[in-house]
Amino acid sequence: MSELRKDPIVDRWVIIAAERGRRPTDYETTAPTPGGPGCPLCEGNERMTPPEIWALRPGGSAANGPGWQLRVVPNKYPALRVEGSTERRGLGMFDMMTGVGAHEIIIESPDHDWRMGDGPPEAIQPILMAWQLRLSDLYRDDRLRYCVLFRNTGAEAGATISHPHSQIMAIPVVPGRVKSKLKAARDYYARKERCIFCDVLAQELAMGERIVMENDHFVAFAPFASRFPFELAIYPRRHAQDFTEMDEPSRTALAEVLHHSLAQLRPALGRPAYNFVLNIAPNPTPRPGKPDYWSTLELDYHWHIEILPRVTTVAGFEWGTGFYINPVAPEDAARFLRETVNEPREARSDG
Ligand SMILES: [Zn+2]
Ligand SMILES: [Zn+2]
Repeated sequence: MSELRKDPIVDRWVIIAAERGRRPTDYETTAPTPGGPGCPLCEGNERMTPPEIWALRPGGSAANGPGWQLRVVPNKYPALRVEGSTERRGLGMFDMMTGVGAHEIIIESPDHDWRMGDGPPEAIQPILMAWQLRLSDLYRDDRLRYCVLFRNTGAEAGATISHPHSQIMAIPVVPGRVKSKLKAARDYYARKERCIFCDVLAQELAMGERIVMENDHFVAFAPFASRFPFELAIYPRRHAQDFTEMDEPSRTALAEVLHHSLAQLRPALGRPAYNFVLNIAPNPTPRPGKPDYWSTLELDYHWHIEILPRVTTVAGFEWGTGFYINPVAPEDAARFLRETVNEPREARSDG
């Protein structure tokens, strides 16, 4: 069983998930993994994963067999497990708790080589629906205070299996980084009675130079203070704090923006490894003893997506300061991405 330990100096939890029998030399970067008999996420290898939690089977095929379009399964080697209590314990001045949570894998396609940028955009819609279903289901468990949904694509971004998949980790605390974002949004609202994310979006739209793509429902842009070259943010155009309530027209629009954004990165970066993070609000169920915790989210929080290509290395300066050095101005990145939108795309690549 893993455990959560809190750094006593800064507000940061660490999951200690010691895997028995692993030596330090086992942590090497992995090359892309082939599809077929050895890939636990390929169609026909369903027995290699734990039983599915949810699946999209258009032909009505039996659970845990082939014939699916999308499957959700628990991670075979989860960093956190659902069983147990989230009571905190002390160890002298240290704070810790049992590693309670959930770790799920959304297998986005039976095709090992499909990538989100390949299209058609409609292929992304069921994935968005699966994300919504799983996130709202996990938040029914009020021990789970925060869910992060992410995709790691490419070995440099931490992917160990090349098969297209995203992951959800539900954790029993709201992480410090999320809390500081939530607090900043709440403070801004208290001062101005406006959502800070709506204001950022209005400013970006007014300036225009960092906008990469927009449609009726979403805007993709290179943020003003991008940390990484070709970093992208995707915001819903209208204020929305709850990702799980996104309706069908918005799903269609988001699929289009995601598909185009990822496809546009290819001419710029070749086969970029990237991390994709969906930033959603914490669990809205009031916590015992803290009934006012995050009770203003409806007004001041606005869900959004970050796409972080891994083309530079986070090194000593970044670790030492929390500053980032970005060698590509976001204005240049956005212009490049806008101009390459209609150019022919190269053959299948990660993206
Ligand atoms: Zn596969
Ligand atoms: Zn807003």
